Amino acid sequence: MTEPFLGNPQETIKILQKYDFVFQKKFGQNFLIDTRVLDKIVDAAEITEDDVVLEIGPGIGTLTQYLAFRAKEVIAVEIDKTLIPILQDTLSGYDNVTILNEDILKVDINQLVEERNNGRPVKVVANLPYYITTPIIMGLFENKVPVASITVMVQKEVADRMQVGPGTKDYGALSLAVQYYAQPYIVANVPQNCFMPRPKIGSAVIRLTRHKQPPVDVEDEQLMFRLIRASFNQRRKTLANGLKNYSGLDYSKEAIEKAIASCGFSPTVRGEALTLSEFAKLANVLKKLRD
Ligand code: SAM
Repeated sequence: MTEPFLGNPQETIKILQKYDFVFQKKFGQNFLIDTRVLDKIVDAAEITEDDVVLEIGPGIGTLTQYLAFRAKEVIAVEIDKTLIPILQDTLSGYDNVTILNEDILKVDINQLVEERNNGRPVKVVANLPYYITTPIIMGLFENKVPVASITVMVQKEVADRMQVGPGTKDYGALSLAVQYYAQPYIVANVPQNCFMPRPKIGSAVIRLTRHKQPPVDVEDEQLMFRLIRASFNQRRKTLANGLKNYSGLDYSKEAIEKAIASCGFSPTVRGEALTLSEFAKLANVLKKLRD
């Protein structure tokens, strides 16, 4: 197997010039040009020769080379068709990579994992296109795709939002959703000069390790996530007002006030003060009121 040769400015420029590649802003194309960052991502994902890896957005195949060198198999999904001939070239030394020219948001990933790994958990590793970070990650979780872990480069601010708890300004629906499904861990902050072209914002690598069991008992997940959305929809409002004004919930004012009281919360508590287990408790109480 060929040692990875991409991941530095010289080889990247050589490939881009060979193919007259034009960066497409709309696809969030910022390619990695730092071998230390690439090693860090692959180390954090703990890739071994038993792993089947799903890579989202391989670009010119930089991270793909590092993954293919360590994994059993890599499935790389790239939307930009002009990158496909480049990938066939840069990955020609690896016989364990499948390149799919698709939009990841339109791929049935469950079916892909079924076909490629008999439905056993895969590891997702990517330097994500930032314009669709949240739909990609939430799609993997909500559609119950068998993933062992997700190790991805994201906007630094988004990584922070995924990791924090109540009482901080970054805490919100994304923090709760991610933490319901996984244990987040920020592996490294990555400066702009590690990419070509340089993004305008800072980046971070985050690893999300899927929980084997959800950390809280909730009877109706959908209801809990509706409560979470309702609470953060109107920050600075009390929880009671947030829930009363949210169109996706049809509980009466009295039912909401009763549920908040029976959870032992103050009538003036704000949604952003509640932990995941408190949201679960509230969802379970409201569910009972309906049963
Ligand atoms: N992995 C490469 C690297 O680290 O150098 C490239 C990462 S770049 C930040 C994001 C990549 O995702 C680009 O190659 C872009 O074309 C691709 N991409 C953007 N939107 C996509 C989508 N909806 N489905 C699949 N790939 C997408």
